[in-house]
Amino acid sequence: MDQAKKRQKKWIKGAFLVLLLLSVLVLTVLGIRLSWRTTIQRMEAEQKESLQSHTSVLYDELERRFAILDGYSASFIPRNIEDHTSLLEKLTRCVNKTEFALVCFAYPDGTLYRHDGAKVQVSHRYYFQRAMQGGRVVSFLENANIDNAKRVGMAVPVMLDGEVAGVLLGLYDEAGFRAMFERTFAANRALAYLCDSTGELLMGTEASETFLKEHGLASVGEGGNFMAIMEEAEFFEGSKAMVAEDLRIGRGGHVAYRYGGAERHTVYIPLGVDDWYIVSVLHESQIYEDAMGVAGMFYAIIFIAMVAVLVIIMYLLLLQHKQARQERRKGEELQYLLEHDTLTGIWTEPAFMERVSERLVDAQPGEFCLIYLDFYKFKLINERFGYAKGNELLCALAEELERFSGHYDGLCGRINGDHFVLFMPHKQEMIQEFNTKKYREKRIIPLELYLHYGIYVIQDGSIPVNQMVDAAKLAQRTVKGNYNNCVAYYDDQIKEKQVKEQELITTMTAALENGEFIPYLQPQYNYRTHTICGAEALVRWKSPAKGMIPPGEFIPLFERNGFVSHVDEAVWNQVCALQRRWLDEGKRIYPISINVSRTDLLNGCIAEKLTALLERYRLTPEVLRVEVTESAYIDDPERLIAEINRLAESGFIVEMDDFGSGFSSLNMLKDVPFQVLKTDLNFLSATGLKPRRDRILDSVIRMAHELGMLVIAEGVETKEQADYLLNLNCECMQGYYFSRPVPIEEYENMVYGDDV
Ligand code: C2E
Ligand code: CA
Ligand code: CA
Repeated sequence: MDQAKKRQKKWIKGAFLVLLLLSVLVLTVLGIRLSWRTTIQRMEAEQKESLQSHTSVLYDELERRFAILDGYSASFIPRNIEDHTSLLEKLTRCVNKTEFALVCFAYPDGTLYRHDGAKVQVSHRYYFQRAMQGGRVVSFLENANIDNAKRVGMAVPVMLDGEVAGVLLGLYDEAGFRAMFERTFAANRALAYLCDSTGELLMGTEASETFLKEHGLASVGEGGNFMAIMEEAEFFEGSKAMVAEDLRIGRGGHVAYRYGGAERHTVYIPLGVDDWYIVSVLHESQIYEDAMGVAGMFYAIIFIAMVAVLVIIMYLLLLQHKQARQERRKGEELQYLLEHDTLTGIWTEPAFMERVSERLVDAQPGEFCLIYLDFYKFKLINERFGYAKGNELLCALAEELERFSGHYDGLCGRINGDHFVLFMPHKQEMIQEFNTKKYREKRIIPLELYLHYGIYVIQDGSIPVNQMVDAAKLAQRTVKGNYNNCVAYYDDQIKEKQVKEQELITTMTAALENGEFIPYLQPQYNYRTHTICGAEALVRWKSPAKGMIPPGEFIPLFERNGFVSHVDEAVWNQVCALQRRWLDEGKRIYPISINVSRTDLLNGCIAEKLTALLERYRLTPEVLRVEVTESAYIDDPERLIAEINRLAESGFIVEMDDFGSGFSSLNMLKDVPFQVLKTDLNFLSATGLKPRRDRILDSVIRMAHELGMLVIAEGVETKEQADYLLNLNCECMQGYYFSRPVPIEEYENMVYGDDV
């Protein structure tokens, strides 16, 4: 929740930053646009201004030359006009004194005399006609019938008594005029043309001529016309018609248009001489250059910087987002690993408990239950089929349990090993289905699996879930290993037992120190000879507070918590002390069977421990017999075999206790060198048909004898049983028919009574 808020905050911050930058960017763009517009406006003004000044330079230059011609024309005395020689003299002087290459005079009839005396008829010439009307004319003269050189002619009228009496014509070399034109407009970055009011191009700078050529337009003097450019222009300021009208009426103007793929700004102004115009065309690149001036550069740098910063921020944000996503995914993976069992993939114990607490928040009393289960003798499966198969089986079982719990909207977790726990709605149909479910995983192993489970119905959802699981486990433990009953509900009895067990645990250490664990002895009889042949030491807890506690109430508990080994040692110690005393008293010694638990065997060194004990009491191994039951064999057969071999090597007689009560009795018998076999009549009589039981008993006794073993029949309660056993050649017996386990003094009386 907190994480999500943080992420959201981060995003808002990021978005705000991006928004801020975007707005700065927009402002920058607007700034650039503004700068662009003002630059264009400024440039147009500059263009006009510079054109104006350059045009006036050209105008002044022409004016200066007109003034020279005017000066000469004024000195033409009408009489002298008649005087041909002095006319030529005057003209020659003019050539010598001025820049004119040729100076001519034309009579009103059109007869023109050059200063060198050459004579031409010019009455049809435009400049002659205009000048005769009193105008001043500049004209490009090609093939002037004189020397074929290209020239620029300037014509002024010669006045006599208020009348035009002739025309004075001064001629430049065109190259000179062109040079002047070029000089004047070269400073202007724009293309410059000289044209007349129809747009006909009269002259252009070199750059302008190149431009005409490049665009396939007719060049100056060869029909080139400015209006041809206007023809194809896409105007965004002014129009072609406007230009044509301006030229016609002698007005200056400005147009902007796109031509030849570029934006161009054109200014045209009348020269003031004849109908001539100067046209100046500015290319967009020149405008960019200016626009990219100081302000433009400034804005451009800001723009680029902004874009860069924006890109970096976007990149960082994306990176952050990616990292956050990666972290989240890692967290989720870790969470999954923590919450899911690595082998089976179902909930682990802590994750299961957490889910259950969540589900119990609004639960009604009795609405849900916990089922604790494990598979009978799963360890055996591992041993017989290997861990890989065992794991495969566990996975298949977990899958099946998950499917089952999922069907009822329940939960399924693995506690450890083959222990599973289910959280289910407590419904009769569910329990029924669960009861009838058979976990036959024959696909994996050729065995039928037995399930034992305990059910805890949740009445109070506020109890910690681990206590509920423990309660279900306790219930399960009451039926664990039970063939007939595989299910138990947690009830008051179990609860009571739990309380009692807790009491035993809290007092056990003190009880051991106080010597409250004492052996009772149960004699073993030879029924054929009617003599005692031994005894079994059976522990009792003589509690000052609770009285005599039978071993069934604390041995299983101590086996689970390991305390049994201390109790056993205490018993063995007392038994050895007894034998020592009786030996010292010169009494006949009968072997006493002691019970060793699974814990003793699996802890190891039992042979050493017992040997050390015997040494302490200076006894030989024959005074003891060691009873071993099956349970250790199931846990770790190899270890058990090794330990029993060591016991046998140390000289102890080892008895197999409760033969036939477990599942691997025969296996164990095959593997372990037992010398005595104890069969439990109680077990054999508990179920099954009597004739079959008898046959089995007969066979077991025969088999034991064939293996060279002594058979002791336990649980003999009646004479019939004793007779029957004797009939089967089993003469050694132990049971209530002969004697209950009795306190030591009583046993002493019973066995040695006569000696006393
Ligand atoms: P167990 O080793 O099979 O001992 C025989 C049990 O059968 C004894 O119960 C004995 O009192 C009982 N019993 C003897 N004859 C008859 C009979 O004719 N009919 C019936 N119904 N029962 C008979 P107990 O003394 O209550 O001991 C129960 C179990 O507790 C023992 O079974 C043994 O497994 C365990 N145990 C007793 N003492 C010790 C001990 O010192 N160390 C360990 N590790 N376990 C002990
Ligand atoms: Ca026993
Ligand atoms: Ca027994």
